[in-house]
Amino acid sequence: MKKKDAVNVLIVDDKPENLISLEAVLEAPHINIVKADSGNEALIRILENEFALVLLDVQMPDMDGFETAEYIRGNKKTRHIPIIFVTAISKEQKHIFKGYESGAVDYIFKPLDPEILKSKVNIFLELFEQRRIIEQKNRELAQANREILAHQKALVEEERLKVLLQMAGAAAHELNQPLMILLGNLQLLELVKDDHEKILSLVPKIQNAGETISRTVKKIQNVRHDVSIGHDSGTDIINLDPEIDILAVEDSDGSYRLFQAYLKDKDHIRLHRAKTVDEAMALIKSKNFNLILLDYKLPDGTGLDLLEQMASQQMDLPVVAITGAGDGRIASRFMKAGAFDYLSKSETNKEELLTAIYSGLEKFQLKKEVRRSIKKMAEDSTRDQLTGLYNRRYMKGVLRREIERARRYQGDLCCLMLDLDHFKRVNDTYGHLCGDFVLQEFARRLKEQTRQSDAIFRYGGEEFIVLMPQTDIRGAADYAEKIRVHCHDTRFDFKGDRIKITVSIGISQYDAQGAGDETALIDLADKRLYQAKTGGRNNVVAGL
Ligand code: GH3
Ligand code: MG
Ligand code: MG
Ligand code: MG
Repeated sequence: MKKKDAVNVLIVDDKPENLISLEAVLEAPHINIVKADSGNEALIRILENEFALVLLDVQMPDMDGFETAEYIRGNKKTRHIPIIFVTAISKEQKHIFKGYESGAVDYIFKPLDPEILKSKVNIFLELFEQRRIIEQKNRELAQANREILAHQKALVEEERLKVLLQMAGAAAHELNQPLMILLGNLQLLELVKDDHEKILSLVPKIQNAGETISRTVKKIQNVRHDVSIGHDSGTDIINLDPEIDILAVEDSDGSYRLFQAYLKDKDHIRLHRAKTVDEAMALIKSKNFNLILLDYKLPDGTGLDLLEQMASQQMDLPVVAITGAGDGRIASRFMKAGAFDYLSKSETNKEELLTAIYSGLEKFQLKKEVRRSIKKMAEDSTRDQLTGLYNRRYMKGVLRREIERARRYQGDLCCLMLDLDHFKRVNDTYGHLCGDFVLQEFARRLKEQTRQSDAIFRYGGEEFIVLMPQTDIRGAADYAEKIRVHCHDTRFDFKGDRIKITVSIGISQYDAQGAGDETALIDLADKRLYQAKTGGRNNVVAGL
């Protein structure tokens, strides 16, 4: 019966009584014995199962032990299985085993000493067990490395998608407004088709919108092509600088010459060399490299040391690690330390080296792009696109913080709500583009006349909020009056039109008892703005 978790040992002898006595000696819970009474049967059995060891009688009719061993060694599947010859030939004649010395081979002499037999067998079984553990570990490492690579690949894909989606979103947003204007004016054209004068007045607007659309489209078309260069495997990689400087950190002349040979016909790749960790650090500091090919063992440390030093000095560069054959553990440490890829020294060919270089560059470029777009997204989420002022979403946080501060230090805080008067008329009379211009220009002037410590937000279409910390209601009213008068006294010049506009302002003051939170402060300012409007517009109401 087959034992669970036991290893298989094949015993081969032509005499049944020898097989029985061998089995009796070796009998143990961790051993599962399989018997064969000839060389031929041994060769059949050995293919049926995985064996840790073969005990092989030398003298057998038909096929003797040596011949059987030769077949075992000749088969790729069984080549690695250790063999112990069991023989009556004297120790002096052990030279006959010559030729098997490279494989795991031993011999034991008849008559059998059970203790020697057991201990020899156990040594081989232990070796087998250890090899099994190492192989398992290697499989796990290889799997882990595959997973890291797959994960990185998935991340890159995800990042690429994010960038694309973001670009698509931005493009749609930018195109929307001129498109609306264009369609609106085309509708108007239909309505005024008999009025030559009116048609003519619409033409510049249509032209304008068309130009905006054309500019945006050009921007979209250009966005990636100028940063892409061709790549051997057919896909585009992103690289602003068509010249690629690669630093090979490699002490072995042979390996370096190989890199040189592989990259010889790549005119845009310049290969540089450092032989030690120190030399590499000095070079990286003095010159901009696009990528590093990094050996593991170097005279003054390892490639991992270099990665660590680079990280501690915030040097961010794509690294392709070069490891010895089958060195899964080192490869895996390199990847964990931030290398983008690894190549096995013995298995590397030109194609693989180039793929690793290009994909390393691409991953790095994407990483940078993603960082940039995250920063931009964070910025966009606080700013209003048209005026560049902080937006309403961002205002909520600022307002909460300022109220908290005013409460804690019993400080003053005023909130102004500004609304342009009859702004709809500006759009109706001069067009939407002109309305946009007035909003931008009003925002610019507001900024110009507001202290750094105050914060301005675009609250809605033509509504603005100014938060004034450490300012009492009188100070706020003076400021509001200044803005009102300035607005009333100056025109907005847009393409030959001199537009007159006025502003109404409502002011609220933080008051722990009355306007004690964000909503109350805003509501009160809104109520006073309404009073300013109903009181005739071009007006400030501060509730004094
Ligand atoms: P009131 O004096 O009562 O405030 O009148 P009003 O016309 O300013 O107010 P209303 O709220 O009726 O209209 C605001 C107009 O502002 C309507 C909208 O077309 C315009 N508007 C809002 N946002 C924008 C924008 O981003 N660009 C342009 N051009 N116009 C905008
Ligand atoms: Mg080396
Ligand atoms: Mg208004
Ligand atoms: Mg309004």
